[in-house]
Formats: sequence, C-alpha cells, structure tokens
Amino acid sequence: MRKKIVAGNWKMNKTYEEGLSLFSEVVNMVKDEVRGNQEVIVCTPFIHLSSVAKLSQDASNVKIGSQNIHQAESGAYTGEISASQVKSVGAEYTILGHSERRAYFGETDELLAEKVNAALKYDLKPIFCIGETKEERESGKFFDIIKNQLDRGVFHLSKEAFANIVLAYEPVWAIGTGLTASPEQAQEVHAFIRQAIADKYDAETAESTTILYGGSCNPSNAATLFAQQDIDGGLIGGASLKSRDFLEIVKVFN
Ligand code: 13P
Repeated sequence: MRKKIVAGNWKMNKTYEEGLSLFSEVVNMVKDEVRGNQEVIVCTPFIHLSSVAKLSQDASNVKIGSQNIHQAESGAYTGEISASQVKSVGAEYTILGHSERRAYFGETDELLAEKVNAALKYDLKPIFCIGETKEERESGKFFDIIKNQLDRGVFHLSKEAFANIVLAYEPVWAIGTGLTASPEQAQEVHAFIRQAIADKYDAETAESTTILYGGSCNPSNAATLFAQQDIDGGLIGGASLKSRDFLEIVKVFN
C-alpha cells in the first residue's frame, strides 16, 4: 500500500526561535496521530534543519526536509547548499521544482532533472512539484504541460530510482490564493499522473507512487480532497505555519 503523506512547506517564514517553537508544537501534537502507512514531513528553511532534526529524533514518524538543493556536489557556489549537506543534518526529503522556484528563480525542467539526480545520489527523497498556471488551465493544455514536466523532470529515472520520488500536484493558480482545486479537478489530474507513470514504468510502480495535492489546502477542505482515490495527502503551505491547522490536516487520515 502506498504511503499517505502530509508535508508542510514553511517557505521563507519563521525566525530560528519561532521555527523551533512551531516544530516542537507540531511534533508534540502530531506524534501520536501518525498511523502505520502514514508519514508527516516538515520542510523548513535551511537555518532550522539541523535543530529540528534533533527535535524529531523522539518522533520517528515526523520526518524533515529542505525546500531546495543545489545540483552540484560541492565547491565554489557561494550561498548554495548541496544534497550531501542537507542529508548530513538528518533530513530525508527535499522539495524540488516548486512553482515559486520555477517562476522566481528560473528553474527549468532540465535543471530540475539534475537536482533530482543530486538528491537521489545522497539518498534524499525528492518531493517533486508539478502543476499548471491559470493561463495554462484556461487554455485547456494543462495535461500536456504536466506530462512535459514529468517527462523532463523525473521520467529519465530508472524504475528503481523513481520508487524514491514523491510527486506533488500543485496548480499554480491555487497556491496561496485561497482558490483550491475542486476535489474533482484535482482527482482528474492525479489520475492522469498515475496513468502517465503506468505508461512510462508499469502498473505496480503507478500504484505505489504517492501523489500529493498542494494549493490552499486547509482543515476545511483536506478531508474531501484526501478522500479522492488518487490523492495520497497534501503539501501544505500557509496552514503548516499554524500547528493546530496542520494537526487537523494530519488527522484526516485517522
Ligand atoms: P498554500 O497551502 O499556502 O496555498 O501553499 C501551497 C504550497 O505551495 C505548498 O508547497
């Protein structure tokens, strides 16, 4: 059975102290709520990672991740952070391909494929984000856009390597806007993604891939979204900054 995941993406929020206190609250609230095939992941800014890794040690079912990595192994890349550095503090995941990185930092599918390779080399599992803009949805071409993001970002991987990928469908028009995709709209795309995985690899790989939904997911809409057959949890932005809201979303699986 594929893993059900609720992952928080704090983005560029929280000072060091604020982040530690939010993470402690999350660990305390969430640790008894995580069931067998469920995982909770918190993706913090880099400054928090090593401290939250220590705090998460007594809650083995709360994992941590970064929100980005650089594609190079090491070297003269001032201001950047590598996969091996992130792995060395105890993180297990990294978000890659978030639409904010694609839009504001010019990250292309080709660059993202390199970042995916770098992450996997150091045993960091990518949470790979894909999704269409408002214009792309309205033009009706969003299935092509999503297929292209998959083809160029992750479908170069072998079946064995692809088994380490978590996908997140995040329609750009739903991020931070309060405009959630309807459960039907989200399910339609998730089913399309799962079929694309089956076509590329095989049915078993498609069935075991966790596909998260992200975009204005909150305690009042998470249950109907997560009830869809191909939605295996959420990548949560704004609502992950409030421990109670995040807890409510985690509890949807109970
Ligand atoms: P919001 O939940 O704030 O819309 O953000 C979603 C997101 O971008 C998670 O990566």
